[in-house]
Amino acid sequence: MNVKTMQTNAVKTLLEKAAGLDNAEGNPRMKEIIHRLLSDIYQMIEDLDITPEEFWKGANYLNELGTNMEVMLLAPGLGFDHYLDIRQDARDELAGIAGGTPRTIEGPLYVAGAPISDTEARMDDGETPGQGMLLHGQVLDEEGNGIAGALVDVWHADTNGMYSHFQTTHSEFNLRRRILADENGFFTARSIVPNGYGCPPGGSTLQVLDQLGRHGNRPAHIHFFVSKPEFKHLTSQINLAGDEYTYDDFAFGTRDELVVDANPISDEALIKQHGFDGEFLDVHFDITLVRTADSSIQEAHPRARCTVEQA
Ligand code: FE
Repeated sequence: MNVKTMQTNAVKTLLEKAAGLDNAEGNPRMKEIIHRLLSDIYQMIEDLDITPEEFWKGANYLNELGTNMEVMLLAPGLGFDHYLDIRQDARDELAGIAGGTPRTIEGPLYVAGAPISDTEARMDDGETPGQGMLLHGQVLDEEGNGIAGALVDVWHADTNGMYSHFQTTHSEFNLRRRILADENGFFTARSIVPNGYGCPPGGSTLQVLDQLGRHGNRPAHIHFFVSKPEFKHLTSQINLAGDEYTYDDFAFGTRDELVVDANPISDEALIKQHGFDGEFLDVHFDITLVRTADSSIQEAHPRARCTVEQA
C-alpha cells in the first residue's frame, strides 16, 4: 500500500528548509534548482513507492559512480548529453541560426592545447599501431564558400578505443591536433583509423546499462571542434560507416548527416603520395558553419576541460 505525504505541511516545510528557502543566505539559483530536484525525487519516491532499501542502494551507487570517475560516462549513456544538444538545436532554431553541420556530443575526453599546424597535420606519433587514415575536407559557409583560416580541432581514439592523456602509454597529444584550414577552407589530417570503445567492464555505468538491457558501446568516431570568428562554434563528431554500433551508439551521438564512409585506397601512387605503408582509408568530410554576430556562441560553451600547456 502506497502512502501519500507529499502534500502535507510537514513535507512542504521539509523541502523548503532543505533547499534553504527559509533563509536569506546562499545562492538563489542553487536554491531553486535544489528545491526542484528534491521535490521531484521525493515525488518519485512517493509515486513509485521506493523502499528504503532501494533508496540506500541508489545512494551507495552514487558514491561508487564518483569513486570510479564514471559520472561523465553515465551521463551520455542516460542521454543527458544528447538531450542538451536537442535543447541547443531548438534554441538555434528559435534564434534563426539553425543549419550547417549538425552538432553532437563532445564527450569528456577533449584536451585543450593540441599542436597547431597549417592546412595539414599528422596526428599519430608513428608508434601507434593501426591502419592509415587520410581525413580531409573543406570548411564552408552556408553559401558554399570556403572559410579561410577556420580552426579544426580534431581528436580520436586509438585502435583499442583509448585516448592520449587519459591513457598514459600514449605520447602527449597523440591523435589530437588543431589544423588551420587554408585560404579555401581545406584541411587534411593523416592519422590511424580509430576503433570504437565500450564502458569499462564491471564499472558503474555498465552496471546500470545491464539492468536496462542495454550495451555500453560506441562506434568508431572522430571528434571535432570547428571555429572561426563570426561563425557559430561547432562541436561535433563523425561516425565511420560500417561499424556494428554506427547506428546504435550507447551515448546517442550518431546523427545521420555525420555518418561518413571510409574508403579503402590501395593505389600505390596514392599510398606513396600520402606517406602510408600500405592500404589506407580515405575519410572525406566537409563541414558547414553558420554565421552569427553573437560572440558568446563563437567558442565552445564553458565546461571544465583538460588543458595541457605545451613546453
Ligand atoms: Fe570519443
